[in-house]
Amino acid sequence: MGKQFRPSKLPMVMKCGAAAIVPEVPIPEPSGKPADVGSAVHEMLAQVVKEDLEAPPDPEPFAHKYGLTDLKELRILAWNGLRMWENLRETVSVIDVECPLESKSVKIGGTADILAFEESEDGDCLVLADWKSGRVDSDYDDQLMCYLWMYWTQQWNVYDRAKIVVLWVRDKKQDVIEVSREGMANWYERFEQAIFSDEEQAGDHCTYCPRKHECATYKAWLQACARQVMLFKDGDNTELDHLDMALLWPGTRALVSAVEKYKKAMHGVVIEHGPIPTGDGKELLIKKSKREDINVTKGYGILSANVPGCDPESLDFIKKFGHFLTVKKAELLDDIGLRAAGITKKKAKDEVLDDLRSANAMDVKETEGVSWVKEKKK
Ligand code: SF4
Repeated sequence: MGKQFRPSKLPMVMKCGAAAIVPEVPIPEPSGKPADVGSAVHEMLAQVVKEDLEAPPDPEPFAHKYGLTDLKELRILAWNGLRMWENLRETVSVIDVECPLESKSVKIGGTADILAFEESEDGDCLVLADWKSGRVDSDYDDQLMCYLWMYWTQQWNVYDRAKIVVLWVRDKKQDVIEVSREGMANWYERFEQAIFSDEEQAGDHCTYCPRKHECATYKAWLQACARQVMLFKDGDNTELDHLDMALLWPGTRALVSAVEKYKKAMHGVVIEHGPIPTGDGKELLIKKSKREDINVTKGYGILSANVPGCDPESLDFIKKFGHFLTVKKAELLDDIGLRAAGITKKKAKDEVLDDLRSANAMDVKETEGVSWVKEKKK
């Protein structure tokens, strides 16, 4: 059984060593906008540090390279990164930027964004800084400990201590993890246990595992979770205490995600094959429906005329900011129904809706979805 280690996968591999086993049937790795934004911002900030720039480079060529259109997002993230770097560079001297790292003992490699050192009377401290463009709650500690291990173990005679600085450019926050030699040795012990273990340990981390489609332990974990969840009635299950209930949470997240993927796949199948009889007098088909949303900017005059005591002349704010506001159609009709006098409730509601439609103040959205309905007689 071959194994493949990548630092970015370490948060998962440290929880389940079997996640590093190369899958028998490989499935393509997900790629997408967040990863591309991260790559573009990393390249812009590498240029900032290498060339000691006072302002980030033009985002256009980076956006073009990664097929991105939101230049504003790249510009904001790069400026945030630059400001954070300005603070850090006051205290450190750069050793290398975008530094390739490799281990001699384990087949693993990666790239450290910034390697630097900080001088102090207690001896120089090695600093590994890493840009992150995701959200602060993501867990990258093991990935960065691995980068540090790859470099620092070659430098024991130079640095007695080290620190990891995580620069969260989206939230403009910085995490600092101080690492002693002992701390690094403890981490390596956990790392070694994980990489030499083939034992499968299912949990929330399975979500990103490239082997989950062929992993019996993952399937059994989901099935056990589904069995428990099915026993709930009206939010209650007297067989489980609060801790057992809480432990079901990661599994239910995976179940919900699996159900959403199934629904998406089923939608594609019904579109491709047409209505599918399910053998019980019912069939699955695509049902189209229309939804009307009130456009407040266009309809504020009609809306205000239907609210007692409301002066249409004083609605400047609504005229300007109506596109940020929502008036729920069902709640508006309930309100009109409550106040309808002299004429029937239905008539009062229909009149307002007709007025809104005539004023082009109803945005119509077409939606479609799979529906399970009685089979049509042929
Ligand atoms: S799916 Fe989960 S349990 Fe199975 S190998 Fe991957 S991480 Fe481990």
